[in-house]
Amino acid sequence: MTKLTTDLIRNQIKRTEFNEHSAPLYLTSSYVFDDPEDMRAQFSDEKEGLIYSRYGNPNVNEFIQRMALLEGAENGWATATGMSAVFTLFGALLSAGDHIVSCRSIFGSTHKLLTEILPKWNINSNYVNFDDYEGYEAAIKENTKIVYIETPSNPGLDIIDIERLAAICKRKKVLLVVDNCFATPLLQQPLALGADVTIHSSTKYIDGQGRTLGGIILASNEIIDEVKNFARHSGPALSPFNAWIQSKSLETLDVRMERHCNSAFEIAKRLEQTSAIAQVKYPFLETHPQFEIAKRQMSAGGGIISFELKSGVHGGQRFLDRLQLFSLTANLGDVKSIATHPASTTHSKLTPEQRLEVGITDGLIRLSIGLENVEDLWEDILHAL
Ligand SMILES: *Cc1c(COP(=O)(O)O)cnc(C)c1O
Repeated sequence: MTKLTTDLIRNQIKRTEFNEHSAPLYLTSSYVFDDPEDMRAQFSDEKEGLIYSRYGNPNVNEFIQRMALLEGAENGWATATGMSAVFTLFGALLSAGDHIVSCRSIFGSTHKLLTEILPKWNINSNYVNFDDYEGYEAAIKENTKIVYIETPSNPGLDIIDIERLAAICKRKKVLLVVDNCFATPLLQQPLALGADVTIHSSTKYIDGQGRTLGGIILASNEIIDEVKNFARHSGPALSPFNAWIQSKSLETLDVRMERHCNSAFEIAKRLEQTSAIAQVKYPFLETHPQFEIAKRQMSAGGGIISFELKSGVHGGQRFLDRLQLFSLTANLGDVKSIATHPASTTHSKLTPEQRLEVGITDGLIRLSIGLENVEDLWEDILHAL
């Protein structure tokens, strides 16, 4: 039997009459029916087929099949962005009056969705501390449908024990949803650890070269059927072009992740030895507060490092200003290394106290380690320090 990463590269949509080696791009809004009976059967779901690209497309389907293979999921549904995957899942599974339990260690836009947008439809949430497992259990109410987490979290790199939380969710009969964006399915498979749904922003490591946006939901056939019904009629479809790019990107995910992880681990270890830095956080450093959990549920530490400069907000800005190789941009998981300073950018509207509540200290720097030569990256960091 071939290995998963081989299957990932070799499994692609059926060749056309031209016998192309690389899957072609199918830019078509709709598909032709053989006859009125074929059309009737497809519309009534008696027969599988492609009807219209909001419903399905060969490139999108190839991308879904490859991601499902990687995550060990029965099925999946791809969306235009990571956030539309999150919103589509909530839209498909929740009704007015339902409740979500989460923690503050989640992506900024997911936090906005939970606290400002979903309450418009009377879907409310409660947060617990990310590592308070009794807290999750206590927060699950009669109307709770979903426990939503992200691990490792963006930007704090907090790690949650998926297996432990999944056992609680099973007992309480609620769904555990894991945003697996930072780890990718190659480093961590939440479904195998007991989660019910995995979500990705495929904009990040899946694309891997900072070109396209995308998202995906991976789960059982039963859950995906509900997602499909919601998504087909509300329309957050992934474009065929983006699916084509991202599906091809998956062929190199294994080699890219290996380099991202090796370089990030090396830089994290060196940063730990540097005197201008108060604290380095990287899942596979023994000093990470959840190191044991990370080692158990991830096969490598990932490509993101966060660290704390002793010199605070101004030190953070000066550090970014002096970097020459690292890009100052909002993305992550790119071939090009990226540095961000949340206190002066994404979280600058919060007070220092509010920032601390979400785990962002004034001198916090987040690095997304790219595929450049690691010594060049290290030299750039040293120079900026
Ligand atoms: C970027 C990101 C998202 C949102 O994805 P988009 O593709 O930008 O919509 C969600 N979760 C995490 C952890 C992210 O890093």
